[in-house]
Formats: sequence, C-alpha cells, structure tokens
Amino acid sequence: MWRLTWKFWISLAIFSIGYACQTKKNEMKISKDMEIYSNDPHSYSRPEEAVTEHIDLDLKVDFKSKLIAGTATLTISKKPGVNRIFLDTKDLRILDVKNDLGESLKYKLGEEDSILGAALTIDLNGHERKISIRYTTGEQAEALQWLNPEQTADKTDPFLFSQSQAILARSWIPLQDSPGIRCTYNAKVEVPKGMMALMSAENPQEINDSGIYHFSMPQPIPSYLMALAVGKVEFARIGDRTGVYAEPGMLKRSVEEFSEMEDMLMIAEQLYGPYQWGRYDLIVLPPSFPFGGMENPRITFATPTILAGDKSLTSLVAHELAHSWSGNLVTNATWNDFWLNEGFTVYFEYRIMEALKGRDYAEMLSSLSLQGLLDEVDLFMKSGKENATKLKLDLAGANPDDGVTAIAYDKGYFFLRRLEEYVGREKFDEFLNLYFSKHAFKSNHTEAFLVFLKEHLFEKNEIKPIEDLNEWVYDSGLPSSLPAVDSKRFKRVDAAISQWIQNDYAFDVSNWSSHEWVHFIKNLPKDLSAESMQKLDEKFDFTNSGNAEILGVWFVHCSRKLYEPSLEAMSNFLIRTGRRKFLMPVYEELVKSGEGRKIAKEIYAKARPNYHFVASSSLDRLLK
Ligand SMILES: [Zn+2]
Repeated sequence: MWRLTWKFWISLAIFSIGYACQTKKNEMKISKDMEIYSNDPHSYSRPEEAVTEHIDLDLKVDFKSKLIAGTATLTISKKPGVNRIFLDTKDLRILDVKNDLGESLKYKLGEEDSILGAALTIDLNGHERKISIRYTTGEQAEALQWLNPEQTADKTDPFLFSQSQAILARSWIPLQDSPGIRCTYNAKVEVPKGMMALMSAENPQEINDSGIYHFSMPQPIPSYLMALAVGKVEFARIGDRTGVYAEPGMLKRSVEEFSEMEDMLMIAEQLYGPYQWGRYDLIVLPPSFPFGGMENPRITFATPTILAGDKSLTSLVAHELAHSWSGNLVTNATWNDFWLNEGFTVYFEYRIMEALKGRDYAEMLSSLSLQGLLDEVDLFMKSGKENATKLKLDLAGANPDDGVTAIAYDKGYFFLRRLEEYVGREKFDEFLNLYFSKHAFKSNHTEAFLVFLKEHLFEKNEIKPIEDLNEWVYDSGLPSSLPAVDSKRFKRVDAAISQWIQNDYAFDVSNWSSHEWVHFIKNLPKDLSAESMQKLDEKFDFTNSGNAEILGVWFVHCSRKLYEPSLEAMSNFLIRTGRRKFLMPVYEELVKSGEGRKIAKEIYAKARPNYHFVASSSLDRLLK
C-alpha cells in the first residue's frame, strides 16, 4: 500500500485551475473567487474549457408514459478558442441541440458507461452564449421514482420524486454533473392539473388551476441538488420561514412532528451564521424514498419513517437543515471529498440537537455514531476493504454511492470533534464560522480544507497542529485519538440490559426516547432465543411498533433467527419502506442462511417495485 502525504495533495489542489463563473463576456476570466475543479472522476465535463452558469428548464411531466420531456437551455462561459462542450447524460434521448441564434449544433452521444452514463459532446460555432437541448428522459431514468397511487400514503394520485445525488441528475437533465461546478436555474414545469410541482427553488404553496409552475433558484448550486417532486400535496406553515408539504392525509401529523423546525433554524443561525436560502421547507415523501432525508436547497425531501409521533426522530431534520451550510453552501468538490459534506453535517446536527435538547441527548446521538463507526470499520477491515475506511476516498472507477458509509459521516464527525476538543469549542466555532463564510457558494477539496485549517485554526491561534492530522484524513482504520463519548442516558440503558439478562424487567423505561430503545435492542445479545424474543414482544411489543427505527433494529434480530411470529410484520415493513438504511441490515441478515435467502427473495419480488433505484441497485447485488 502506498500513502500520499497531505503536502502532495495540497500541491495537487493548487494545480486545480480557478475560473470566474460570472462573466459579462463569452469567455472566462481567471479569478481567485471561484474555483472550479476539473479532476472529478465521475463527470465527463471539462470545466477548465467551459462551464454552465445558468440553466433554464422547460419541462412537461407525463405520468402515463413516465417520462419527462422538454428543453434545457444552458448559459455557458468558455475559454477563448474552445469549440465544444462536454455534458453528462444517462439514458437520455437527445432530440436536437440549438444555439441562441436558432442554429442547429452538431452533437454526439458517447458510449454508455454503466456508472457514468454517456458524454454528450456539442460542437460550438464560437459565438454562442446559450445552448438549448431538447430531450426526453428514458424509461430507466435512475433519479426518478414514479409511484402509482397505491404506492402513496393517500392512494388517490400518482407521485413523482427525484433523487439526484450523487450522479443521477444526468438521468433527467443534460448538464455538467459534477459537485465542483455550480449554476443558478429557472424552470417552467407542466404537470397534470390538480397536482403540485415543487423544486429545490422558490416554491408555490397552493395547487394552481393550470398545472404550470414557475421556479427560480437565484443562488448557484451544484447539479446534485437539482430536485423535483410532483404530487397531490398541501402546504402548512410552521414558522415565518418554515413549513411542511405532505399528502393531505399526513399533513396534520407532519406539522406536529416538525413543530421545532423554526427553532432549529434559529439555533443553526446562532451557531454558524445567517441562513442564505430564503425559506426552509420540508416535504414528506411517500415511504419508498430511499434515504432518511435529502437536503435539496429550500426544501428538504424527507422519509415518512421519521413520523414517530413524539418528535423523537427529528434530529434528521437538524441534519438536513445543517446541510444548508455544510454541503449546499460549502460543497465537496468531488465525491472523494464526501466527508466534507457529511462529517461537517453530522457535527453541526449534533450541535443543533445539543442546543435544543441538552448535552445528554446529543451524547446519545454521538454514541450511536460511534457504535455504527466501529462496526463499519471492523467490517471493512475484515473484508479487506481498508481503503474504504479513509476519509479521503478514491472512488475513480467505482460508483460514488459506495462512499455513502459511516466513514464519511461518523469518522468525519469524530475528526471534527477531535479538533474541537483539542483547541476548545470557542476557537473551533470561530473557525467554522469563518470556514462557512469564506467558502459560501463554493466547492472545496479536502486538501484546500486542510490548508485553511492549518492557517485559520492552528497558526492564527498559535496552536501546534494535532500530530495525527494526516492519519485522520489519509489512513485507514481509526486513530488512537478517537474521542471518547460519555452518554449517561445510554449507560442507564446498558444497566437495563444487564438487568434484563438476569431476567429482571424492573427497569424504568418511562422516559426513553427512540434512541434509547434503539440502543437497547441493538445491544441485546446476538444469539437471542425465540423464547427471549417472545418475552420481549410480550413486554414491549417491538414487532408491532409504529416507530420505524425500532422496527429496523428489531427485525435484524428476527431475521437472524427467522423468528416466526415476526416474519409477516417484517415482510410488510420491507415492502412498505424503501429507506435503504432499514432495508440493507435486515436483508443482509436474511441472506446468511439458505432458508433466509429464500424468504428474502420472496419479499424482494413483491417489494422491488416500491424501491427507488438507489435501494434496488444495492439489493440486486445482494440478492443476485
Ligand atoms: Zn447528510
């Protein structure tokens, strides 16, 4: 194995070329204000030659054919002498390409790569400022999840939502699909009458009669934040800047569950500076949404599995809100730097939750992170994938979704916590405020972050850098300086588990949150007998819990032992829920035995149509 020193990486980062995005003329000026990174292994675009400044979309959403058709007009800025532009596409049908004078432009679609899709190369005449691409999406558009009415909560109307992260925006819009390139956008979207369209932009709050909606996103965003949802949804206000969209049947529950959103927004601003996106709303999607939440600017897309009835799972909202700074405002330049998005966001999320619910509460979340991290590192190390445990990843040739692991999230979080504990919270907060304000609306490499860290945290405060800085970022495994977590609430749960092992149920669960229950179930002995599971169900009825987090961990035990009385509830849960975090551990446990694999395949045959590509692509591999 060879390892790069961070000095090498810094020299590589400096090698990246900086260009101004906002130019009056049809050519680019070199500027220190805007850096566009050209070494993204997951995009065909060549931003060192030409970049998109703005996109105008004119789209029609057709539920019958399950296609989106229309035009994407890209305002481009290019270097003198450049006579072509490279865009990313996946499974798109390109109908024609014209420039702003209405002249047809020659174009070529390259060979389709199973991960990257096909490069769309457009020849330029030299004088164009805009190029218009008329296209339709393909039947397999991986970003788009088309739901029949019966797959929604209210079961009255169909639903469509997009999930563009990491590199799926190219399956519904031809664009430069790299997180190192940002642009603004406007859109006109036509949907069936009686439905509402929402985007990662300024949004309507009512269904209109025409079915035509106009959107504007005036702040430059990376392509993976392009988002669209279409359904029969209603809006309800929470605070001055916050509100919730949901299918009518889920709206009241959603408003109650997310009543803390406005407070969270204010806490976040007190921590790390003004919220820069106007409104912060949230849409509760149908259950097949593959993630917990997606931080689409101005409107978080969220799973209904966080509607626990007691606000106990709303740290997810804190997480998505925190992305309005870490991720959306300051963005990872490539998916190899994914920890810059997620590690910062987990850190920020826990700070919001600490301010909202106290240190004891936040330490529970940190403890869950630590447990998840230790498990995942252990798994990677044992399976010979130690490279996957490095913060700075090398995902060239791989699917960037492979980087969505506890490493980016939790190792990233503990690295920042280590820095905080080393320099003290006051200095660290001052540093983070500066980091967000200096890099607002820019993308960043790990190496550029390290340069900034050295200068503005260590040198400025005349503090010696931590000795294992390189080790944290570029080494596999976990450094010995991994911070310790002290969760008093989980210690009480641990004591309860010890009592339970002695067959003593006289422990107090009256104040337990979802997190305590999850910790309890997760840490029960792995070889639970059917008799023990039956007793637990008699006492706590885990099998019929309405809380998806509890079901998610309980069904891992049930699937390990193929615990008969839970199998039907487990099957229903797997069919109903499309959230990958819950699906994978249960299916992974099932396939370990022959009988379990058979059950898994039966369930999957029924469940697969409900899953988004992000979930089904992982499961296709597991169950092949
Ligand atoms: Zn996140």
